[in-house]
Parts: sequence; structure tokens; C-alpha cells
Amino acid sequence: MARIGFLGLGNMGGPMAANLLKAGHAVRGFDPVAAAGERLAAAGGAPAGSIAEAVREAEVVISMLPEGRHVRAAYLEPGGVLESAPAGALLIDCSTIDVATARAVAEAASAKGFAMLDAPVSGGVGGATAGTLTFMVGGDPAAFERGRPILGAMGKAVIHAGPSGNGQAAKICNNMMLGIQMISVCEAMALAEKLGLAHETLFEIASKSSGQCWSLTSYCPVPGPVPASPANRGYTPGFTVAMMRKDLKLAQEAAQAVGARTPLGAGAYQLYNLFASQATEGLDFSAIMTMIGAKAN
Ligand code: NAD
Repeated sequence: MARIGFLGLGNMGGPMAANLLKAGHAVRGFDPVAAAGERLAAAGGAPAGSIAEAVREAEVVISMLPEGRHVRAAYLEPGGVLESAPAGALLIDCSTIDVATARAVAEAASAKGFAMLDAPVSGGVGGATAGTLTFMVGGDPAAFERGRPILGAMGKAVIHAGPSGNGQAAKICNNMMLGIQMISVCEAMALAEKLGLAHETLFEIASKSSGQCWSLTSYCPVPGPVPASPANRGYTPGFTVAMMRKDLKLAQEAAQAVGARTPLGAGAYQLYNLFASQATEGLDFSAIMTMIGAKAN
């Protein structure tokens, strides 16, 4: 069992840290929001007053922070992880951030003698709570083998994606597919309605045909066909519009940086930007059905 320093105890990091505790690890965690530390204490962990205090004795450091700038600051600034963690600690960033920042921070870690993995996740708050996340991991194979059992305590799949930054590359490619597919399901549902074809009937047929995808069969954006989907509870999240917009933006920035052609990814980003401008950022991303459905009228 490992001594783990955990940074970022929010919607995802909180339940992830709780699962590490359940697996028998010792977790010392830091989050500037006091309530997050209190939740860690209630789960059996030790809240810390700073990053340095959380990681000082850690064998493994895990971070789950909002964006690249937070990761850069937490690792690189004075009093941050690279200055405070003991030699030999394995560093794992699970946040969803841009590939370039992931590679830059891993390089700075390596220059100081630390092995670092980027290990973003799929599965959302539900997966974080149930311990069924999918981790997509970038970094060298030896570091991956060290990190695998720790990540396995929080997830059902831990997959090596290649060198540093490739975990983030896999994450934004996956979520670009998700954003495009969600819009495709919404457009099909809106068109079906206009053609006099019931949502339930299209669902029954497409879920057994070549239009089948996760956005349809597990997360259907209209109420009815999938009782557990956010459409049945007023589009409470789930995975928010703000997060989908963030991931589509990361995908577009990456595509531009390497000259990849992603016209539908660009279109999905534009549509989520438009939807987010209607004060919908806190809704589940499948709520874009309400805009696409309305446009069809
Ligand atoms: P969140 O805002 O709920 O949690 C982030 C936490 O980080 C906050 O509690 C914040 O106070 C804390 N924080 C900020 N700066 C810090 C610092 N310097 N040190 C320690 N803590 C700090 O966000 P979340 O939903 O938990 O998401 C975290 C990451 O996971 C994001 O990168 C997000 O894109 C990704 N993600 C989220 C989901 C989801 O469904 N929520 C799914 C997959 C991936």
C-alpha cells in the first residue's frame, strides 16, 4: 500500500481519493476549497494545508485539476510538486489538459529525476465514484507499470497509450468523437420527429443498426428510451456543456498545432460554443438536443 499525495479533491478527485482509501492506501490531500478537505477527512484521509504538505512524504502524487494552467502551477511553481515531493516519487496527472502542457510538465519532472504519467480519464463522476474509470496513460513503460496498480484502484481499465502526452491525445480524440456523435444523434432525433418517426422507434431501430453509438444507447439525449440518461432529469449533469466545450477546444487547438483536418470537430466546437452562450454551461452536454431540436422547428 502506498502513501499518496492527492491534489484537487473536486467532483472527480474527491471520489477518486475515497477509492484509494478504500483500497487501503494512505491519502494526504490538498484542495484550496476547505469543504473538499473535510470530505477527504470524512472518507478517512488526511487534509493538508498546502501542496508541499500533501506531497512531502508521498510515494505517489496524483493530481486532478481543472486546466493546464493549474497543472503547470501546481507542479512547477515554488512550493509546488517538483520542489516538494521526495526523490523517486511517481507523479501522475489525471486532469484533462492540452498535450503540450502535459509534455512540458513531464519534461520538467524528468529533468528533476521524477517519472511522470499523464493519465486522463473517461467515465465522469459516476465512474469516479464507482471506481470504474478508464485511464488512458502516457509515459514510459516502466513508470506505467508502477502506476498501473494505483490507477487500478480507481478504474476498470488502465491502458498505455504511448509516450508522454499520448494519454491526453487519446482523451481529446475520444471526446471529439463523443461531441460529434452526440450532435449526430440529436440531429437524427430532430429530423425523425419532423418526418413523423417517433424517438422511441428510431432508438429501437438505430440501436440495432449502423447508427448505433454510446451517445444513443447509453446516453440518449431525448427523454424515454434510456431511463438513466440526463434527458430524463432535466439534463442535470453528468458531463457538463462547459466540459465538452473545453475538450472540443483542446481538440481544435491540437488539430491546428499538428495540421490535422477535423471539420466535424470544428463544427461541434462551434455548436457547443453557441449553446454555451445561452447560459447552459452547467447543464449536461446532451442538453444540446434542446437547441438542435428547436432549430428544426
Ligand atoms: P472540479 O472543479 O470539481 O475539481 C477541481 C478541483 O481542483 C477543485 O476542487 C479546485 O478547488 C481544485 N484546485 C484548483 N487548483 C488547485 C491546486 N493548485 N491544488 C489543489 N487543488 C486545486 O473539476 P472536476 O470535475 O473534478 O474535473 C477535474 C478534471 O477532470 C478536469 O480536468 C476535467 O476536465 C476532468 N474530467 C472531468 C470529468 C467530469 O465528469 N467531471 C470527466 C472526465 C474528466
